[in-house]
Order: sequence, then C-alpha cells, then structure tokens
Amino acid sequence: MTDAVGIVVFAAIGLAVGSFLNVCIHRLPRGRSIVWPSSRCAACDRPLAWYENIPLVSYAALRGRCRTCHARIALRYPIVEAVTAAAFAVDYLAIGWTPLLAVRLLFAAMLIVLFAIDLEHFILPDLITIPGIFVGLVCAFGLRPGPTDAAIGGLVGAGVLLLLFFAWVLFRGVEPLGLGDVKMMAMVGVFLGWKLTVLTLVLGSFLGSLVGVLVLLTGRGNMRSQLPFGTFLSLAAFIASVCGDSIIAWYRSLYV
Ligand SMILES: [Zn+2]
Repeated sequence: MTDAVGIVVFAAIGLAVGSFLNVCIHRLPRGRSIVWPSSRCAACDRPLAWYENIPLVSYAALRGRCRTCHARIALRYPIVEAVTAAAFAVDYLAIGWTPLLAVRLLFAAMLIVLFAIDLEHFILPDLITIPGIFVGLVCAFGLRPGPTDAAIGGLVGAGVLLLLFFAWVLFRGVEPLGLGDVKMMAMVGVFLGWKLTVLTLVLGSFLGSLVGVLVLLTGRGNMRSQLPFGTFLSLAAFIASVCGDSIIAWYRSLYV
C-alpha cells in the first residue's frame, strides 16, 4: 500500500470508528449499553435513519441540528469523528502496514474515548481501562513492547499514579480524583512499555500544568479548579505511541 492510499483508507476507517466512539462517549458514563438500542437523537430520543448517521457528512447536511426536534447536535460528534480519522492516518504513517498497527489503532480508539469522557465527566470508566490492561498484556506476547517491558510499564504507570494518590491524601487530607488515572496508566504501560510510559507521565504533567497556568491567567478558574488529568494523559500517550522513540532519542542527544 502506498502512503497516500493508506492515509485515505485508514482515515475512512477512522471516520466510521469515530462514529462508534461517539456512542461509547455518550453512553458509557450514563451506564447504558453501547450495542443496543441503535443511535438516537440525544434530545428527542428518536432513532436515527442511516443517512443521519454518516460521519461528518450528516452533521454538515443537517447544519448541526436534529431533523425533527431541531435540538443542537453536540459539536463533539464531528470533532471525535475527525480526530479519530486523523489519529488512524497518523498511526498508519508512524507504524506502517504491520500487525502492531491493529493494536495501536485499538489503543488510539480507547484513548480518544477516555480523553472525551474525562474532559466532560471527570471519570475514566473501568469498562475501558480494565479490559485495556488485559488486551495490552495479551498483545505484548509477540508484539512490541514484549511481555516483560509491558509488565514493567504497567507497574511503573500505576505505581507513579498510586504514589501521587497517597501523597495527595497525606498532604491534603482528601481523596483526589479516584483511582481511574491509576488504572489508565497501567493500561498505557502495558501497551507502550516503561520508557514511553515515563514519557507519557512527563508530557501529560507538562500539558496539564500548561493548561492549568492558562486557566489561572485567563481568570477561568482558581487553584481549586479541577483539571481532567486523564485527558492530558490520553493526549500524551498518543503522542508517545507515535513519536515517543524520536522524542527520547532527541532528549538523549542533548546530553551526549
Ligand atoms: Zn431530536
């Protein structure tokens, strides 16, 4: 497959998958099934016709409103579809037509769901992270990063977040966000191995601090404002999964 054909093919697959991820993002935090019933308008609950369900196209054709009740369709729908298409194309370019690509596409899809749900609800559902840990471990037998590195990665990811959790309880006397981040970083660890997991933690903290400072400076929040750490970690994990090795190589070159 040439690069151009591959980009088009995987972007198209990404659009279709993104449409399904929207269902997960809407229903998982509400404790509803992701396979039944079929897609409905979030406002009037009318089942959608097939032509109202075409990624990007339907949103544009309907001008962002339900055909019958005219309620606004959340901008999240076309954004998640476009982002998934872009992520799949980037994954293809970074990894190529190899068995690892299938694993990394699944990983990217899970990260997009975690990103969006944490941003909106401040939770990282166990229904994504716990199966993710098992799938990542199984895939590591035979593919990168290999079972040993995956196990160490999972322990490093979960361990660092657990330390942060206990430090928070100790110094602030309250429980922080919960253990969702711990399970999420265990999942990232088994998919990426320990080096890229450390990179994910560094990048995620950096992105979180950057946004935190911006929130303070623009007066949109204060020191007590909650930030969705899982959202930053998701973005960081995706960056690490596509170009983490180059970032680590570049970082090392600064000290040689
Ligand atoms: Zn409607």
